[in-house]
Amino acid sequence: MWKEPLQFVNGRFADGTGTGEVIVIDPSTGAELAKGPAADAADVDAAVAAAGAAFRGWSRATPGERSGLMLAWARELERIRDDLAAVESRQAGKPIRLTMNFDVPGVIDNVSFFAGAARNLEGKAAGEYSPEHTSTIRREPIGVIGSIAPWNYPLQMAAWKILPAVAAGNTIVLKPAELTPLTSLMFAEAATRAGIPDGVINVVTGSGRGAGQALVTHPDVSMVSFTGSTPVGQAIAATVPGKRLHLELGGKAPFVVFDDADLEAAAQGAVAAALINTGQDCTAATRAYVQRPLYEKFLDRVATIMSAVTLGPTGDHDTDLGPLISWTQQHRVAAMVDRARDDGARIVCGATIPGDDLDAGSYYAPTLIADARQDSEIVQQEVFGPVLVALPFDSDDDGLALANDTVYGLAASAWTKDIYRAGRAARDIQAGCVWINDHIPIISEMPHGGYKASGYGKDMSTYSLDEYTNIKHVMTDITAEAHKPWHRMVFTNTM
Ligand code: NAD
Repeated sequence: MWKEPLQFVNGRFADGTGTGEVIVIDPSTGAELAKGPAADAADVDAAVAAAGAAFRGWSRATPGERSGLMLAWARELERIRDDLAAVESRQAGKPIRLTMNFDVPGVIDNVSFFAGAARNLEGKAAGEYSPEHTSTIRREPIGVIGSIAPWNYPLQMAAWKILPAVAAGNTIVLKPAELTPLTSLMFAEAATRAGIPDGVINVVTGSGRGAGQALVTHPDVSMVSFTGSTPVGQAIAATVPGKRLHLELGGKAPFVVFDDADLEAAAQGAVAAALINTGQDCTAATRAYVQRPLYEKFLDRVATIMSAVTLGPTGDHDTDLGPLISWTQQHRVAAMVDRARDDGARIVCGATIPGDDLDAGSYYAPTLIADARQDSEIVQQEVFGPVLVALPFDSDDDGLALANDTVYGLAASAWTKDIYRAGRAARDIQAGCVWINDHIPIISEMPHGGYKASGYGKDMSTYSLDEYTNIKHVMTDITAEAHKPWHRMVFTNTM
């Protein structure tokens, strides 16, 4: 299916020179989609050199020039949108409905947004904050960015890493997850076809320990931007002391249902937010805390809706839920659910590996677990599968305390018709995003990023431009005096 090599360096596809291989598998069928040599340190070196060579020209292009090219890129992506949706669906095991209606249009909108944002960098007004000087602010690109992305939303993560970086005038080398590199390569190639200069966007495909480590530790990479799991992010942080770092890490989003909530809205919202992308979403609803009067009714309704979800081939427009990314992930999810059961939790529905015609893929049934212990693994650790855990709570304060009781802080939601409760939940929940009476939607204009062990820094929105720019203060003397008033603090010489 995939005909090109798996590296994209300096505006061209190229084979890696590493000894390892990258093999891309369709997790819904086990079919091989692509195979090629992995990038090693020499390939990373070539990509960083290409990005370094492109930096001078790209960083000195006017915002208007960069913006114009990015708008052409958005048009090119629009032209190939069906191919992008099909390849993303196959490599990541996503239902085609999701890639056509969420991943691809979201990314095209991101490109258009950052094309506009490139022309709107903000800073403090120039002025005489000291009577003897005019101060101005310059926002400058940082240099070559080394970015690492995960497999769960390969195209969206490539976009979230690349767009603010290049909009601000940086050049970039992206290493996508080795399981899902194909749409990142298509994204970069589309940029070249749209006229973005060679070397501005490079993609190297290889393992984390090989190409990934070579990229983040490369001396000519000025900043590392990582999206992935918390342990890997923390390990990378330890290997790049002194480098600028942006970390988007794991999540374990709480879903807090107060006793006045619209039960049907909460149940529908919980199923959609727990199962999107087969639960392999860092903001997915994973822990439903339900105030006791609604608890059993919530469990019943969620189980009913979950059992009506259609698992199926990813290319089928009726499929709601695709497979997990791999058999390794399937076994990991199944083992975590088994351990929760052994630990005394109640399996309300699911907890099975579907057979028959889904045998060839790494599927897992939508699963609802009740009455787990708050300190148990299934409540505290990322499962990254179609698994929702529900626990009851009594007072509002208890519910919010339980919501905050993990190391993570990426996203959360609160469900209530009471505006005051909603306000208190929005204030008290420690997370980068709190939805009220919804859970999952994202938009280009608003930031995404974590608190606590979910990382720091922002993706999307103009806030992300702060990550990818240095702020320079230029202070210009306007007195033209040789002996400036402040010199007298240092020496008395008035000659
Ligand atoms: P992962 O941490 O295993 O891998 C992420 C990337 O890091 C991959 O490209 C991998 O090859 C690379 N990598 C691994 N070891 C490396 C090393 N030593 N040096 C450099 N690179 C290395 O994560 P994953 O399993 O691909 O993705 C799932 C995780 O990503 C989940 O924890 C999820 O919550 C998180 N995630 C977070 C966000 C967010 O915005 N906060 C978004 C999506 C996914």
